[in-house]
Amino acid sequence: MRDIFSLSVEDLAEFMMKIGQQRYRADQVYEWLYKRSATSFDDMTNLPKTLRGELSQQFNMVPMKRLTREISSDGTEKFLFELTDGNLIESVLIEHSDRKTFCISTQVGCPVKCAFCATGRSGYVRNLTVGEIVYQAVEIERCLRGLGGINIVFMGMGEPLLNLENVLKSIRILNNPQGRAIGIRRFMISTVGIPEGIRTIAEVVPGVKLSVSIHAPNDSVRNKLVPLNKKYRLNMLIKSLREYVEHTGNRISFEYVLIEGVNDSPEDARMLAEVVSGLPSYVNLIPLNPTDSEYRRPASEKIRSFHKQLEERGIEAFVRIERGGDIKAACGQLRLRHVKGG
Ligand code: SAH
Ligand code: SF4
Repeated sequence: MRDIFSLSVEDLAEFMMKIGQQRYRADQVYEWLYKRSATSFDDMTNLPKTLRGELSQQFNMVPMKRLTREISSDGTEKFLFELTDGNLIESVLIEHSDRKTFCISTQVGCPVKCAFCATGRSGYVRNLTVGEIVYQAVEIERCLRGLGGINIVFMGMGEPLLNLENVLKSIRILNNPQGRAIGIRRFMISTVGIPEGIRTIAEVVPGVKLSVSIHAPNDSVRNKLVPLNKKYRLNMLIKSLREYVEHTGNRISFEYVLIEGVNDSPEDARMLAEVVSGLPSYVNLIPLNPTDSEYRRPASEKIRSFHKQLEERGIEAFVRIERGGDIKAACGQLRLRHVKGG
């Protein structure tokens, strides 16, 4: 059975034509799915009964089941989903005073295997389908009270640029004015940096923002933390970011996980400032969320001084406030807990 949330409105129109229906039926279904939050084809009362029957024979409307919803003391919410093949993924909802951010997964596990990341350590299973990506947003939104500005960040499990085709289609679906109509500038893709993917993003969705998980100021440290760096070296990454900035006019958001004794020295800060200077950007410093790796989070004093070193060199930087720590709302930790049964 096909998954209806994988279909663009054009795909749906094609299907309608094929079964001898008119195009506007596709628009009606789309509206039910994305504007009227239908949960079954039976809800779609302005469609003829026979068409509803045909749709429910051909399409699945529930590509995943919500297993848990955990609310952290700071209001961060974490959702664990079971896919139809039994795999588990998670999404996180962060509510700020004036906006909401959905942190969405793109793969089951992640093949990049960054040394400090629980998702990477949990192994890689497969890419998510378009419907599985889209449905995370649909389902979490159903749980929301009130509609504020919604930002969608591809920062959950997985490396979005290794599943780029599905990520781009899911953005088109959620952005479509006939559907959820989430503005293109409300999307952000987070990546370890794959130059050809960055080029595609600049060309196809120049309005989408880019966050780059840099984590290290040189190749030798980055090779250890982000193994994909051996293939796409820092200078290749920076070159593709230069082109991205020229093409889109967007600033880059760099993510830098601070790890004690690995990438947190004043010399590291100096080198990092050199690497990113000249690129319209800012740096988010993320004190490591300890997992079962050997890495530790630096002391607060060290974090403050790293921050200061960057700012003194004219680099805009922020220390990202920890959220959702008590429910492990970070980086594949909840899934790992469930997989291990602990
Ligand atoms: N694969 C993409 C997006 C998902 S990871 C990427 O790496 O950018 C989302 C963010 O969480 C990345 O910046 C990643 O480096 C960070 N992260 C992963 N494990 C972490 C940990 N243990 N502590 C703090 N941040 C972590
Ligand atoms: Fe994958 Fe991102 Fe985790 Fe690296 S940090 S293993 S790219 S999810």
